[in-house]
Amino acid sequence: MILYDPDLIQPYTDYGIMLPISPARAPRIIDFLDHTGALGTEPLKPVFDCSAARRFLGDPTPINREDLERVHQKEFITTLYQEGPEGAHGLLKALLNTYELIDSQGRPHRYEPDRAVKPLVDLFHLTVAQVGGTYLACRLALEQEYPKPRFCYYLGGGMHHARYEQGAGFCLINDIMIAARKLQVENRSQCIWIIDLDAHKGCGTAELVHFSRIRGDLGGNTALEIHNLSIHMAKGWPLDEENLHAAPLGRAPWIQGDVEIGIEAGAEDTYMPELQRGLAVLEKRSQNLQPDLAIVVDGSDPYEHDELPSSSLLKLSLDCCIERDRLIYQYLQERGIPSAWIMAGGYGERAWEPNGYFLRTLPDG
Ligand SMILES: [Zn+2]
Repeated sequence: MILYDPDLIQPYTDYGIMLPISPARAPRIIDFLDHTGALGTEPLKPVFDCSAARRFLGDPTPINREDLERVHQKEFITTLYQEGPEGAHGLLKALLNTYELIDSQGRPHRYEPDRAVKPLVDLFHLTVAQVGGTYLACRLALEQEYPKPRFCYYLGGGMHHARYEQGAGFCLINDIMIAARKLQVENRSQCIWIIDLDAHKGCGTAELVHFSRIRGDLGGNTALEIHNLSIHMAKGWPLDEENLHAAPLGRAPWIQGDVEIGIEAGAEDTYMPELQRGLAVLEKRSQNLQPDLAIVVDGSDPYEHDELPSSSLLKLSLDCCIERDRLIYQYLQERGIPSAWIMAGGYGERAWEPNGYFLRTLPDG
C-alpha cells in the first residue's frame, strides 16, 4: 500500500528556500512504478491520498496541537501556534532557524524572499499536514484489511532532526515521534521500533525518546516503549565540531540512541554487516515485547549520487541502497511486524532512485 498526496508536496522555492530538495522525487517514484506495472500489484496497491486514507480508516482524528505538545516542549509549540504579528515573528524565527536561512553574520543563506510566492510561515500548516501523513501511514500499516504484508509506504515525512524545543536540519517538528506517541495513547500500539536509515543521525528522535522516558511516558512502569536504531555517517552534520560548541552535551545531537551505528567515510563495505548486527541488538533490547509496529525512516541521502554536501561522507551504490531496504523489509515481514515507511532525506534529481528501485522489487517477492 502506498500513501501519496500531491497536495502535501510544495516546492521549497515557493517559500524562497533554495535547497536541492526536488518536488519531483515522489511523482518520479509513482511514474516509475506505474510504467513498470508495479503500482497495480501487491504490496504496493492500492495508492491512497490522505482523503482516501481517512475514508478507509473511518475518519481518524487529525493531528492537533495536543499531539505536538505530547512530545515537544509546550512553550515551543505555543510559539508555533501564536496568531498575529508577534506570534508570526516567533514562528518565522523558528523556520529561519530550522532551515538555516540566516548565516552567522546575519545575512540570508540559500534564502531569497524576493522569489517567494508564499509566506514562509505557511510552511507550518503544510508541515502539520505532512505529520498527518506519517500518522495515516502508520494507521494503514496497522489496520489495513489485507492480511499480508502489513506494509504502507508514505511518499513524504521523516523529520527526524526536530528536537524537544526547536526545529533543526530542515525538520520543524518530529512527525515520527508525534505519530508514534499518538498511536500509543490511542491504544493502537504499545511497542514501536524506529529504524532510521537516513545518512544523518536521527538526533531529534533520540532526544525525544530519551525525554519521553525521563518523563515516565515510556518504559519503566509503563508497557509503552519505543526503541530506536539509527545507522548514519559517523562524522559530519549533526555530529560535527560546530555542533559540539552549539549544543551542550546531554542534549541532541549527542544523546545516544538505543542502537547507534556510525559508518566512517570510505567504510561503505561495512554498512550491510553493521546493519544486520544492529537489527540483532534492537531485537534483543525488546525481546520480551514484540513490537507491534516498525517505522522505517527510509532516507535516500546515503546514495552516492545525492547532491547535499553534508551527506557526502556516505556513498552507497544503488544496489546497496536496494539491498539495505530489502533486508529491513524481509526482516520485518519474517517476524510479522507491520511497517510504515517514510521517505526522509534525499537531495537532487536522482533522490527518487533508491526508494523507487526498492519499491519496484516488492511485487516480485
Ligand atoms: Zn539526511
